[in-house]
Amino acid sequence: MTKNISILGAGESGTGSALLAKSKGFSVFVSDQGNISPKYKAVLTEHGIDFEEGQHSEERILSSDLVIKSPGIPDKAPLIKKLIAKQISIISEIEFASKYTHAKLIAITGSNGKTTTTLFTYHLLKEMGLHVGLAGNVGKSFAWQVWEEDHDYYVLELSSFQLDGTYSLKPFVSILLNITPDHLDRYEYKFENYIDSKFRIAQNADASTFLIVHEDDPVLAKEMMTRLFDTNILGISLKNSHASGAYSDGEYIYLNNGSGTKLPVDQLPLKGKHNLTNMMAGFIAASTLGLDTSKFVEMASTFKNAAHRLEFVRVYKDVTYINDSKATNVDSVYYALDAMPKNVVWIAGGVDKGNDYSAIETLVKERVKALVCLGKDNSKLHEFFGNKVSKIVDASSMKEAINQSTTLAASGDVVLLSPACASFDLFNNYEDRGDQFKALVSELK
Ligand code: ADP
Repeated sequence: MTKNISILGAGESGTGSALLAKSKGFSVFVSDQGNISPKYKAVLTEHGIDFEEGQHSEERILSSDLVIKSPGIPDKAPLIKKLIAKQISIISEIEFASKYTHAKLIAITGSNGKTTTTLFTYHLLKEMGLHVGLAGNVGKSFAWQVWEEDHDYYVLELSSFQLDGTYSLKPFVSILLNITPDHLDRYEYKFENYIDSKFRIAQNADASTFLIVHEDDPVLAKEMMTRLFDTNILGISLKNSHASGAYSDGEYIYLNNGSGTKLPVDQLPLKGKHNLTNMMAGFIAASTLGLDTSKFVEMASTFKNAAHRLEFVRVYKDVTYINDSKATNVDSVYYALDAMPKNVVWIAGGVDKGNDYSAIETLVKERVKALVCLGKDNSKLHEFFGNKVSKIVDASSMKEAINQSTTLAASGDVVLLSPACASFDLFNNYEDRGDQFKALVSELK
């Protein structure tokens, strides 16, 4: 009998799931409470897939055999509660697509660094000649690719919301970069729940798979002591030279996999300690695939990271401008400041998600000469840094923030946009914030 699948949310992953499900003989219904973009509507129509927008037809959805839910829809949404009560299986697009491919999956999660590590690993594998797809939170959806052009390997960026809907997903390599409190509103404000969600990446890990863990991360280190895994654990570390996967002293990355490979850091494409971790994760993942490690430096060196992540913009009047608009929490700012010399004019602020600035207090005192607060409500920044940074000013637009910064910065200084906050008080999103910064900095004369 044909099984009914309802797909909730008709974005990139929902539409991809619909195409894949249809091709596998399911009866498919796509439902989106908001508007569906014309691009996806055209695809659904072209393939004869039934859809609705602006509503959820509950009766029809509640009679499904299986539901594929967009990661954006929380479990507390009324319709989801009803589906759970009726014991209808709810899975994510990643779970669904993984059932229809034999590809080896390299899956990456963490609170910070997912996109960078995913793009980096994908680049490395592609340059090494593998037939590899890039999916998850970035680019074309996993399901769409499995349907249209399956690959031998996929590098998947997985958020905790995507992992929540996975049950049988079994990546060949799982990577856990770090865990710091984030998105707690979706996890009953319990950090443990968010941690459990991240660890779902390895829920089916066994002796045939690998788990790469950043062992310097305090939360991961603690969790690894109590969770039992019967899998091949590869630690990466900047502290432990005997880490089972890779170690870096800042000068070289050492692959501790018996190959004796050492990769000179100054020839690698990403800067900053956090990026050493990200690159180590990518390199050691690639080495589990039996690739020739002696080619890694050459193949990695052409990588260019996505915009808004410690992105160099320009040197103007001997002041360096860096766009780190994607830094929407305190931990990412920590790494940004850590990668900077002294004398930083730091542009921060926006919508604070419950920030605790004490983690960066020492670094800020050491490196920040002036703080430009860019947000509608800057009171928390003033309260915390008022007596710690010698100069604090306010700005209510990017233009104003840059004007203030150019006045405050002297020759040799760095102006760093690394907000620690979300952007939607003054901008459409973090890209808009970073783009405005870049455009205005480029115009300086
Ligand atoms: P994500 O996809 O997890 O949000 P990104 O790669 O987009 O991660 O980076 C988000 C922010 O976090 C950027 O400001 C970046 O400089 C910073 N960052 C990148 N890697 C790490 C890491 N390993 N630890 C902490 N911060 C990081």
